[in-house]
Amino acid sequence: MAARQEELRERLRGLGFEEVRFVRLSALNGEGLRKWLESGYHGDMHWMERTEGKRTDPGLVLEGARSAIVLGVNYLQGGGGGTAALGPSGTPSWARYSLYQDYHDTLKPALARAGRLLEEGFGAGASDYRYYVDTGPVLERAWAARSGAGFVGKNSMLISRTHGNWLFIASILTRLELEPDPPLTRRADPGAVGLLCGKCTRCMDACPTAAFPAPGVVDARRCISYQTIENRGIIPAELRAAVGSRVYGCDTCLEVCPWNRFARAGRRMILSSRGDIAAIPLRELLELTPARFAEVFSGTAIKRVKLAGLLRNACVAAGNSGDPSLLGPLLRLAAHASPVVRAHAVWAARRLGAGALLAQARARESDPEVIAEYGPAPQAQAEG
Ligand code: SF4
Ligand code: SF4
Repeated sequence: MAARQEELRERLRGLGFEEVRFVRLSALNGEGLRKWLESGYHGDMHWMERTEGKRTDPGLVLEGARSAIVLGVNYLQGGGGGTAALGPSGTPSWARYSLYQDYHDTLKPALARAGRLLEEGFGAGASDYRYYVDTGPVLERAWAARSGAGFVGKNSMLISRTHGNWLFIASILTRLELEPDPPLTRRADPGAVGLLCGKCTRCMDACPTAAFPAPGVVDARRCISYQTIENRGIIPAELRAAVGSRVYGCDTCLEVCPWNRFARAGRRMILSSRGDIAAIPLRELLELTPARFAEVFSGTAIKRVKLAGLLRNACVAAGNSGDPSLLGPLLRLAAHASPVVRAHAVWAARRLGAGALLAQARARESDPEVIAEYGPAPQAQAEG
C-alpha cells in the first residue's frame, strides 16, 4: 500500500497539486465551531449552521469515509511573500486568490482525474469518494493540519511551511483506508490553533477592523472579506473607512505572516492568472456596465458578488480614496437601480466632500427605497 500511495502522490503532483497529504478521518471535536456559531460570528452565512454536523463528522458527508486526501495548490503570483497588495498604488486592492480564473472551476477537472486514479489504482468505485474545493461541508483546514500540510495560524488560515499562507485546499474524502501522513508535530493537538505561531500576533495586530476576538477566531461580521464578498447588503459604516482600497476580499492577516518568507510563486495557477484585473483603475470599476462586468469578470470568483456588489465595494474604495475626481461617477451611481449601490455612492460622495452636491447626496441617502429595504442609515449619517 505504501508504494502505491507514493505513486498516487506523485501522480497527483503531476496533476498540479503542489501539496499532497493523506489523513485518517474521524469525528472532530466540534466545540470551537459550535461556540463560533453561537456567538453569531458567521454573520449571514446561515448555511454554516445547517451543515454544522457534517462539518465535524465526515461520515455524514460520505458514509463510511475513512480517509481524506488533502490537496494544496499554491496561488502566490510573482514570488516572495508578505508584500503589499497587488496592483500599483492608487488602483483597487483585490485578494490574491481572486486574480485567477475561478479556482473552483479550474481545479475540478484535476480532481475528477484524481478520482479516476483512485478507481484505477485502488479499485475504488465512483461512489467511494467525493471531492470538494472549498465549497463543501468539510473543515478542510482542520484536516489539512492533521495531515501535516501545515498548521492553522492565529489568523485562522492554513499555513504551510513551504507555501506560507497561499494555498487553495481541496480534499477528496474516500472510503479507502489510506496510510496517514504525520502531522507537523505530535507533541500537541495537530489541529491546535497557532501551533507554530509562537508569541507572534502580527496578523491579529494588523487586522484593520479588529476582527479577531481570540487567536484563530474571526468574527466574520467585522471581516472585510466577509463584508465585501458574502454580505450582499449594506457594509456597516463604522467599518467602511478601514476597508481602504479593498474591492474584493482582504489579505492583510495573510500578508503580514512571517511564514510567507519561504513561499515561492506557484506553478499551476499561473496558467489561469487574471492579474490584469489588478490594473483596472477605480474609476473604470465605478463605470462598469453589465456588459463590461460580464466581459471582464466572467469565469472569475469575483463574479460571485455580481455587478451591484462590485459597484458597492468600488464606492467604498472611492470614498476612501480622497480623490474628488471620482465624484462624477459616484453621483451617477447615486441614481443606480440598486438601493445598496445608491446608499454607498452617497456615503462616498459625502466623504469626498461633495460640497454643493451634498444636498443631492442627502436626498439620496433618505431615498425611501433604501429605507424600505434596509431601514434608516444611521451609519451613513455618522460618517457625515
Ligand atoms: Fe482582518 Fe482582513 Fe484578516 Fe478579515 S481578512 S480578519 S479584515 S485582516
Ligand atoms: Fe501566526 Fe504570526 Fe502568522 Fe499570525 S502572523 S498566523 S500569529 S505566525
